[in-house]
Amino acid sequence: MLSTEKKVNLIHKVTSARITLKIGKDQSVRRFHPWIFSGAIASRKGSPAEGDVVEVYASDDTYLATGHWSPGSIAVRIFSFTKCDPDREFFRKRLADAMQYRVNTGIAGSSDTDVWRLVHGEGDGLPGLIVDIYGSVAVMQAHTAGFWHIREMIAGLLPEITGGIVTSVYNKSEGTVPFMAKLGPVNGFLTGGDAGSSAIVKENGYKFRVDWEKGQKTGFFIDQRDSRSLLRQYSQGRNVLNMFGYTGGFSVYAMSNAALVHTVDSSASATAMANENVSMNFGSDPRHKAFPTDAFSFMAEMKNDYDLIVLDPPAFAKHQSALDKALQGYRRLNAIAIQKIKPGGILFTFSCSQVVSRDDFRRSVFVAAANTGRNVRILHQTGQPPDHPVNIYHPESEYLKGLVLYVE
Ligand code: SAH
Repeated sequence: MLSTEKKVNLIHKVTSARITLKIGKDQSVRRFHPWIFSGAIASRKGSPAEGDVVEVYASDDTYLATGHWSPGSIAVRIFSFTKCDPDREFFRKRLADAMQYRVNTGIAGSSDTDVWRLVHGEGDGLPGLIVDIYGSVAVMQAHTAGFWHIREMIAGLLPEITGGIVTSVYNKSEGTVPFMAKLGPVNGFLTGGDAGSSAIVKENGYKFRVDWEKGQKTGFFIDQRDSRSLLRQYSQGRNVLNMFGYTGGFSVYAMSNAALVHTVDSSASATAMANENVSMNFGSDPRHKAFPTDAFSFMAEMKNDYDLIVLDPPAFAKHQSALDKALQGYRRLNAIAIQKIKPGGILFTFSCSQVVSRDDFRRSVFVAAANTGRNVRILHQTGQPPDHPVNIYHPESEYLKGLVLYVE
């Protein structure tokens, strides 16, 4: 029997596993969409286990793609559209490409930002893998059994492909690998390990403590970096309300020039960290206050004192079935904010639900505005920063939508 150590370094290649698609079901793969739905499959040769590598063929036996097998509705997540040997060298090249892209777009190696995303799943041709960088620590999340199986190999490559930026790799996949695969995931360091559970990182020169062990996602919402910068352009002298503030990302930026900043989050550990983050940058400053409470009840009771409001709720819809309810949630939330914001106020409003399209979201905010009767102009429409790239062939990877509104 192989030791666990040895097993995880295998590539899980099942050379005999071959998926053949139904006639006419090859169109989306030929347009480089990285998912094969189970309904598109005509036959399967071999019996792949969850996470094994399979090859996909058209009904006429033409090779189409290679990816990781899963027994769910997304049956194959494709990582190559050309025939390949998905070995260590293959993944080294993929990761090195992801790194080069961050260097070319000015994200990696910046002197005032050392928190960024190195791998964004489908956006980097690696569906099922997320890697976030916090200083010298990489936090990795496997969303598929395929990447869980090769986690050690990926972790081993990260120091090399980042040119030594990464010295420790923390695997945080307990909550992300498919539960049904019964992989028994345990979070912990795969390399390094003396890095503890948190670090102080820098984003645009602001300091933040990030706790990858206890924090949400990999520890920080890196995807809002550009919107936080944009907020600073509008927060001068304003009374800022940061709803769903988590560890105070928007609040810290606003503290540069706002008259007052209130952070609201239902998680008391998040608001405690928001206070810590504000203090780390501005000392004990009475302009900031954090409220560990429910956003909806806070907004129901609040006065019309704020002239800049941020609404950055968690994903209201994780699946298509919850879409209507989610849209209702966005309408409700935005209506209260638009109704209560001071005249001339600015609203930063976001949706991070993958199933809510940009149009859906804009329509919800439109209905919310119409219900209040106030005049609203769109100042900016925002999205994901370049280290969370949207794969043009995979519209689903555009999950983050934002509107910056001027409310008369
Ligand atoms: N804007 C943040 C990220 C927000 S993530 C940043 O830039 O870092 C969404 C946050 O909403 C989470 O911190 C979660 O704890 C909080 N949340 C979820 N439901 C809530 C509710 N009903 N009321 C208040 N906060 C809530």
